[in-house]
Amino acid sequence: MILEHYIDGAHVPSISGDTFTSLEPATNRPYLTVSAGHAEDVAAAVAAARKAFGDGPWPRMPAGERAATLRAIAAAIETRDERLAALECRDTGLPITQARGQARRAAQNFRFFADVITTLGEDVYRVGSAQLNYVLRKPVGVAGLITPWNTPFMLATWKLAPALAAGCPVVLKPAEWSPLSAGLLPEIMEEAGLPPGVFNLVHGIGEDAGAALVEHPDVPVISFTGESATGRVIMRAAAGHLKTLSMELGGKSPLIVFDDADLERALDAAVFGVFSLNGERCTASSRVLAHAPIYAEFTARLAERAAQVRVGVPDDPATELGALIHPDHHAQVSEYVRIGVAEGARLAAGGARPPHLPEGNYLSATVFADVTPDMRVFQEEIFGPVVCVTPFGSESEAVELANATRYGLAAYVWTSDLRRAHRMAQAVESGMVWVNSQNVRDLRTPFGGVKASGLGREGGRHSIDVYTAAHIVHLAT
Ligand code: NAD
Repeated sequence: MILEHYIDGAHVPSISGDTFTSLEPATNRPYLTVSAGHAEDVAAAVAAARKAFGDGPWPRMPAGERAATLRAIAAAIETRDERLAALECRDTGLPITQARGQARRAAQNFRFFADVITTLGEDVYRVGSAQLNYVLRKPVGVAGLITPWNTPFMLATWKLAPALAAGCPVVLKPAEWSPLSAGLLPEIMEEAGLPPGVFNLVHGIGEDAGAALVEHPDVPVISFTGESATGRVIMRAAAGHLKTLSMELGGKSPLIVFDDADLERALDAAVFGVFSLNGERCTASSRVLAHAPIYAEFTARLAERAAQVRVGVPDDPATELGALIHPDHHAQVSEYVRIGVAEGARLAAGGARPPHLPEGNYLSATVFADVTPDMRVFQEEIFGPVVCVTPFGSESEAVELANATRYGLAAYVWTSDLRRAHRMAQAVESGMVWVNSQNVRDLRTPFGGVKASGLGREGGRHSIDVYTAAHIVHLAT
């Protein structure tokens, strides 16, 4: 069986007939053949979406009707939650217990944006009794959605839900390393009654199908989640068309622990933040900055906890850390372990393939201690189960170290001093800061990063802003 594109309400192969193969991370055996989209397939999908935008019902529907369809999509996702978990587990190597949460999060995205779109007002400005100026939000047109391979289904819905809520037909290009779960979307959209042409899906390699979507003149907005380096390429390509861009990019987020923190909770957060989801999480707390008085103790306890993280086959419910997505990624993460050792960081835990897992993309939970800011392992996003621990002496040094990378996605601060918590939270260069809290998401708040971690914000009405243009009417009364 071939996993095909979905264009204008129909499953279709690539016009060229080309395919690519997907590997199962647990074994690296090829197990899935996928249609490889090129520019002509993207053009067909964009044409269908453009038709749905130009004369279809979707952009013209009252928000309440669109919201009802979004809620039906949420319900259709939930009825597939075990299936989705099994697909994500097999396709991405995510532990099954963690894959199980994905359907709930995805359904929540659709329900949330159904609420947003039905409660969102439009602004009116009065100038005495002589003039009324009002703002209409109009869907911008076909939205190009390009998504990464980590938690691929959930992250696709984080873009699909607001784009559809805003009235934009979409073309989704999922990551080539994890195409499987997007294959559920056509049946979900059909079951929910989404009109044909509103949701289109083109599989393919990023530099080919993804680039064609970015280059297509009839796609005025690109919402991208992926690496900062890819974001740069996309920005350059989109510049020629002056497109709206929303960029959710990489991170190297610090978790800063002061000596007055609840160390037990900070430790739980550190372990969760970098070892759950296989460490393949954009907001992973991949740099721990520990206050000098507790540095030795915290590092030792983190290493102890890392050694207890159960690495195993993804479909075993006892597994806490599964298989990394792809042999190339496994090689890259392993190379960072080698680099860290060569740079003089102290390997306090992990760093190797567990002996009981001779094949597949496995790596033990890895802790580097005594990491200094000049090291590549401190500076570069590893995107795997590898954490670097660095000591700091003073609050100002903590800020300096926290801000010493080109990234600025998330930060985590652990302290029981309220005034210090505020000072730190405001001094850290990141789009989001969690204080004495794990990575708890509130879908209403702006999500995104500064510096190399992104441009623009999604979340709540910020997402709707990405997919709508403000249209201002100035009216003399
Ligand atoms: P990636 O940049 O390699 O690929 C992301 C997507 O872009 C894929 O669909 C890929 O096919 C496509 N692509 C690649 N080259 C392209 C091009 N030239 N033109 C158009 N599309 C192209 O990223 P990845 O490895 O799939 O994902 C991991 C990265 O994503 C990490 O850096 C992670 O931090 C980041 N991420 C960020 C967030 C966030 O919200 N900030 C969330 C999840 C992941």
